[in-house]
Amino acid sequence: MLDDTLLAAVVRSHVGPHARVWRYGHDNVTPMTIVLETAEEAVEHPVAVYWVDGGLPENYSLPSLTPAVVVFNSRYLEMAGYLRGLLTDDLSSTEQLSGIAEQACLEIMAELTLRYGDPAVACYLAARSLTVGRVHPLPPSLQDIERIPIDEMYMAVWFLPLLHELGHVHFENAGPGDPVVSEAYLDRLVDAVMAASFGDAYEQARGALSRGESFRSLSRDVLTVEVRADLFAVDVLLAATQRVMRQLGSAEGFSAERFVAENLMMFRLFHHMVIEYLAQVFAVDDTAVDGVRDAFLAMARHDEERMAAFDEGFVAAQEQCLDPMRRHNDVLLRLAERAADDPVVVHFVERFCRLAESLDVDSPDLQILADVVERPADAAGIIQQARMAFLVAWVSGPDTDEPFTVQAPDGQLVVPVYVTEADVDELTGAFGDRLAPGYALRRVAIVSPTEHNAMLTILQHLPESKRGRARVIFDGSPAFVRWLRSIAGRDR
Ligand SMILES: [Zn+2]
Repeated sequence: MLDDTLLAAVVRSHVGPHARVWRYGHDNVTPMTIVLETAEEAVEHPVAVYWVDGGLPENYSLPSLTPAVVVFNSRYLEMAGYLRGLLTDDLSSTEQLSGIAEQACLEIMAELTLRYGDPAVACYLAARSLTVGRVHPLPPSLQDIERIPIDEMYMAVWFLPLLHELGHVHFENAGPGDPVVSEAYLDRLVDAVMAASFGDAYEQARGALSRGESFRSLSRDVLTVEVRADLFAVDVLLAATQRVMRQLGSAEGFSAERFVAENLMMFRLFHHMVIEYLAQVFAVDDTAVDGVRDAFLAMARHDEERMAAFDEGFVAAQEQCLDPMRRHNDVLLRLAERAADDPVVVHFVERFCRLAESLDVDSPDLQILADVVERPADAAGIIQQARMAFLVAWVSGPDTDEPFTVQAPDGQLVVPVYVTEADVDELTGAFGDRLAPGYALRRVAIVSPTEHNAMLTILQHLPESKRGRARVIFDGSPAFVRWLRSIAGRDR
């Protein structure tokens, strides 16, 4: 049994020093205590639930500890309430919804990319989320979400993601049990989820996922565990929702249809699971799947249009996250123009910079954003002054005129970017003699205010066949240091 101090330290090491963290107690009877009691009866393993205010919008669990740690993040809850609200509020028309959904999804992806990806890409996603529409919608606060009536929707928004994490704890400790889905079904599911989530960028996404670049793997093993955790979550939520409504004296108000509709919506929002999947979850056996699917389709039909608009926005955000060719040039410049007279934009940039700081992430592009927050009136000037020469080696020869790539031990093609001429000349010197006759290396300067724009320019000049495997890394970044180490290791 791990003690409280140690557990709190484990949680803190993951969420960073600036988030507020406390262990959730059972002092009063609330919907949350009822949900946790219902879950703990099923989990059969001690659990410590931590509430985290701030930090990244993600819930997570450490199921192998005793007690197992489950983290419930208020920012995740805000975003869940926000996305859920977008689908049904009457403030946005269906035409506006895809743009707003793109903004919201870009915002979430930007924050997750700060921790799990390239900070230059994170800055791009954040800046794009703030400039893609004419206004930036404000997500609801936690207080707003607390004020919604306690019903099937409230229960799904608040607790489905939490129960999913408790599902992980259950299966980690209860062993594998019976398989809930067949292999063939799982194959179809992986494909359906990928196609629904990534649209035209499907192939690209599959490549990125197989290289392990994406922050969430869709490998079969991972997906099986996720499906099981989802099943657990829906089961417990059903029992807990009825208990909570009984406690409130509104038990006869419980509607199985509303319960299914709300959970369906949450699944589609977060996993982009297709209706197929929920049919599998709710059907009592294989022969019932078709009937249940039809019922769900009928149920979801009335908000299909809004769902489609939302999906469009989600796919647009996802594509930009995964595929550099889908990104737009000079997004930071547009952000600077907006920041000069829009305090809401400055507020969001400031929060993003604070999050980066709390995660101990820094990069030149983040520095530019921090300067914009400091002096929003000068934002355009800040971008102008930030312009610098990014130096790369460039290879030319018969039918070739492109950035020079170095093959890394993992098969990726690395384009190293330097700030000083001596460094890039060292690279061209080392590789120049090894080139085939007729080919030559030279130094090329790309002038740009941001690393991200320099990266886009470099990728745009690579032939398509290389682009998918290419990684642009900047001298001085942690990724550059890791790359140097990996080639030093290979030479030994
Ligand atoms: Zn999970």
